[in-house]
Amino acid sequence: MDQKLFDLVYEAVVNRESTYEGVYYTGVKTTKIVCRPTCRARTPKSTNVTFYRTLEDALQAGFRPCKRCKPEANGALGPDAALAAQVDDLIELQYNEKLTLDKLATALVISPYHLQRTYKQVRGYSPAEKTERVRLQHAQQLILESNVNITEVGVAVGYSSPSHFTSWFARRTGVSPTAYRNGQRGGDSAETK
Ligand SMILES: [Zn+2]
Repeated sequence: MDQKLFDLVYEAVVNRESTYEGVYYTGVKTTKIVCRPTCRARTPKSTNVTFYRTLEDALQAGFRPCKRCKPEANGALGPDAALAAQVDDLIELQYNEKLTLDKLATALVISPYHLQRTYKQVRGYSPAEKTERVRLQHAQQLILESNVNITEVGVAVGYSSPSHFTSWFARRTGVSPTAYRNGQRGGDSAETK
């Protein structure tokens, strides 16, 4: 498993977020117990964790299902939600690259049509919209929390052209990146947030 992806999934485990429910199972090497990522038991150290794609894989590797979160019981995500979560993973890892529907579909070995349709059903918006949201979130963070200049912020979130980045950012937020850095939040001030 890619380190960046591991960190993302582990962070969800730490925060007990349901993002990876049914997508990954947490094998705890020290106890040989496998949990759902949302298990309420004490969070294992990252060095003691192996993530498994399926419960079967974890059981085969010698893990026993946790009595507390019962990963073998119903309630895990269906295949559509699991697919949507995989798409989110890919977008989080590659949002700074040119990310097309075809590219995502190729990575997941499914048709672009099926990907688009399933994702939209689960999330309520398209993978392209998700990519924009992830990019915007990272751009806003870089603008507010770093001294990286606006051109470089654009490059970091996949816009090689500063003018394209600026107009896209303004369209999404209502203010330019520079104005955003200077504290204008398009009517949504930092204090009230
Ligand atoms: Zn558990």
